[in-house]
Amino acid sequence: MRKITIIGAGQAGLQLGIGLVDAGYDVTLVSDRTGGQIRDGRIMSSQCMFGTALGHERALNLDLWGETCPPIEGLSFAVPDGSGGRAINWASRLDATARSVDQRVKMPAWLAEFERRGGKVELREAGVDDLEDYARDSDLVLVAAGKGAISGLFERDAQRSPYAVPQRALALTYVTGMAARPEYSAVSFNLIPGVGEYFTFPALTTTGPCDIMVFEGVPGGPMDCWSDATTPERHLERSLQILADHLPWEAERCQDVRLTDPQGTLAGRFPPTVRKPVGQLPSGALVLGVADVVVLNDPITGQGSNNAAKCAASYLASILEHGDRPFDQVFMQETFERYWDYAQYVTTWTNALLAPPPEHVLRLLGAAGAGPRIAHRFANGFDDPRDFFHWFMDPADAEAYLASVGA
Ligand SMILES: Cc1cc2nc3c(=O)[nH]c(=O)nc-3n(C[C@H](O)[C@H](O)[C@H](O)COP(=O)(O)OP(=O)(O)OC[C@H]3O[C@@H](n4cnc5c(N)ncnc54)[C@H](O)[C@@H]3O)c2cc1C
Repeated sequence: MRKITIIGAGQAGLQLGIGLVDAGYDVTLVSDRTGGQIRDGRIMSSQCMFGTALGHERALNLDLWGETCPPIEGLSFAVPDGSGGRAINWASRLDATARSVDQRVKMPAWLAEFERRGGKVELREAGVDDLEDYARDSDLVLVAAGKGAISGLFERDAQRSPYAVPQRALALTYVTGMAARPEYSAVSFNLIPGVGEYFTFPALTTTGPCDIMVFEGVPGGPMDCWSDATTPERHLERSLQILADHLPWEAERCQDVRLTDPQGTLAGRFPPTVRKPVGQLPSGALVLGVADVVVLNDPITGQGSNNAAKCAASYLASILEHGDRPFDQVFMQETFERYWDYAQYVTTWTNALLAPPPEHVLRLLGAAGAGPRIAHRFANGFDDPRDFFHWFMDPADAEAYLASVGA
């Protein structure tokens, strides 16, 4: 039986580990926290996942919250007009429901499921010496440690990483009591030029249904304001102040909000980074990076968990197809490039949205208000961002598309 060790019990590590156990592999998963510690810890993400990524979970019978997690049925988009109103304001339905299950709920359940299906869990924060031991004992070592320090083992790919410093000051606030949107639930996305972005959507957390507020502040601007919000209460106050200052229609929905729990806030920042996929240990042994370890995007487009699910599904297919052949450097590089064939589009699109919106993008997003087909295409692009490269990314393509839909 082929032996595989995975470092990191997140979206990618657990999904891939469970897929491999189901396929008959001997899998050890190394986690730096128990399920209980994850559940009782701080929120980590807003983890909104769209149809295709949820399909990968369903394929492994890991869709455990279909009944309890509130659905996200659409996407709305607004830009303030500077005098309390909206210059752009539209919404469109998603073809497939999206969902956000707090990783503090999902990962402990998947850890238990992994063990139930025959996987082994080792509890430790794996360092280089541990990786050497695992590499000696395993046919393949996969590092799915997210933003963990061990990702430093993988060299930054400067050609594929246009930004060397963080592009947004990030903050999350999990709340209950937010008024629902009219008609249908949605990711309510607001773009405040020069200030940043705010989006919110329903989710399932440890205490039940909630709404997640996501703030993406341009560094040095008015939404980069979290350093002195040192208590959960101050963090919530600051969240509400931003809405009152910039997005009154969102503030209106938040008259009665309360934090879900004392661990329901997060603030931080990181530079979006693509890394070389093969890491070499001091002994010369090779390990393969997975998901955020190798392709870390800013959350502005809400793609990280989606990417992690797609990376896990792609690596699973590569490993199964490889059969009994050695997991050498060529295999590792090819496995990554197969995933990068998809992920490069997500990364390029996400990095583009971190820059001030060019004229043709503002025209497209404005035209979507009067053109439901444009709005529908934009909303559903979040499930598979490759579509943006046919009509959104390039000014000439955008012009041709607008002409074709009579806008
Ligand atoms: C503010 C914010 C908002 C986000 N919103 C969204 C969103 O709406 N939609 C979306 O799709 N994505 C979103 N993301 C991104 C998403 O959460 C991540 O991309 C996704 O969780 C990555 O999965 P992963 O498995 O690669 O890593 P992770 O989920 O980070 O899992 C890595 C695991 O490895 C563990 N670990 C680390 N080092 C070690 C070690 N040395 N030994 C053992 N274990 C280790 C960690 O504790 C963790 O459990 C957001 C991220 C942030 C920060």
